[in-house]
Amino acid sequence: MILYGHTIITMNEERQILKDAAVKIVEDRIIEIGSKEELLASNPKASVVGSENFMLIPGLVNSHQHLTGDRLIQSCIPSSIEDTEAIFEWSVPIHSSHNPEDDEISATLSLAESARFGITFTVEAGTVAFPEMVLKGFETVGVGGAIGSWGWDIGDGPYANSTSGVLDRQLQVMELTKNHPSVKGWVTLVGHDLMSDELVQKASNLAKDNLTNLTFHLSPHAGEVSQYLEKTGMRPIDYISKLGVLGSHVLIGHAVHINDSELKTLIRSKTAIASCPWAYLKLGQGITKFGRHPEFLSKGGRLSLGCDTENAGDNKDLLLTARLFSGLMQEAKLKLDKPASHYALELITIGGAEALGLKEEIGSIEIGKRADVVLIDTSGPSWQPLAPDPVMQLIWGANSSDIDSVVARGKIIVENKKCITLDELALANEAKARQKNLLKSAGLEPSSYWPITTY
Ligand SMILES: [Zn+2]
Repeated sequence: MILYGHTIITMNEERQILKDAAVKIVEDRIIEIGSKEELLASNPKASVVGSENFMLIPGLVNSHQHLTGDRLIQSCIPSSIEDTEAIFEWSVPIHSSHNPEDDEISATLSLAESARFGITFTVEAGTVAFPEMVLKGFETVGVGGAIGSWGWDIGDGPYANSTSGVLDRQLQVMELTKNHPSVKGWVTLVGHDLMSDELVQKASNLAKDNLTNLTFHLSPHAGEVSQYLEKTGMRPIDYISKLGVLGSHVLIGHAVHINDSELKTLIRSKTAIASCPWAYLKLGQGITKFGRHPEFLSKGGRLSLGCDTENAGDNKDLLLTARLFSGLMQEAKLKLDKPASHYALELITIGGAEALGLKEEIGSIEIGKRADVVLIDTSGPSWQPLAPDPVMQLIWGANSSDIDSVVARGKIIVENKKCITLDELALANEAKARQKNLLKSAGLEPSSYWPITTY
């Protein structure tokens, strides 16, 4: 297969931007990058996807996404309630009501939506009940990612288990995904204050021993810092660091409320953060007043971006997330060595891949890498006239609705703005029916603030 466009933003080591170039793909790999004329002439039998109007960028990386639970009740939780109430009175009961088929439909819908936004790699954030069903979702859509299983050993929430029970479940996911070409088993804990010291320590070692990653939630809001201070006398990151669990294999979801010493600890230990800025805004968690992710990044911290859940940020427009982060960087008035938009694009491509320990495999258009490429149609009015810096225009001026086609692992999964690996209409109908059943079995009534009149 040959892909081409007027511009290719490679995100390779030199951040090269190529004009009138093409990419040759064999099976699931990029095997050649060169001039469009030459590649087309020397491969007359190749199937060709391209246009003089296309801009090519690497497949995008979403580093924190719940694939089950909230997806089937997207935008249903009242935004007027506190975030803890939203989680424990809504999301958690919905998760407990999910049956295996709900998990499959939810993940499939989520990943199909992601594919249309150009996302070809998704890290599930740690709340999967039926990993084998979520894996089916990845396979149906044709994208890559990482999955674990529910991991909490404190409290009596759904799938809470003994410490060894939680760890066994993570091992089962690793077994399930062993030798899988594009989905990797991670150790995923819920985190917060819902993991014992023993669990988080053993989970960290389990991830290291199996050459994989550990992810968990920590410090999204100020309340969690108070809880840790009360319980342990220490702030969350300081405490976790004392337990010896941090390191380059760890990806912390959020870490919004961190002080100077915690910021330094995270950078020193090479621990990565998954930042989900839309979620912090929707839940009112204080990102604009207290968030330090731009500073963390500018000081060499390993940062990535995520979209979290469908009642905290709600959609998976990762380009829009990158634009928001770019704005937060501008607002932070930091000394930067390149435009904020360039940092933002890195976070959803090669930088995000690096934070997940996958920069040799995904995140850029380079020979030998997984063939994950997004083709953007720049013929619409919002792209006219083309700007001299395509990265700045992509982050600030473009819309995700201009994403025309997506290739993942060498196969076309989005064409003409539609996910073609499944029947989108049938999936929508299935999701609609399941939303009704789920809300009923969880005993929930979605509210709308405005009265809706039907004629
Ligand atoms: Zn989350």
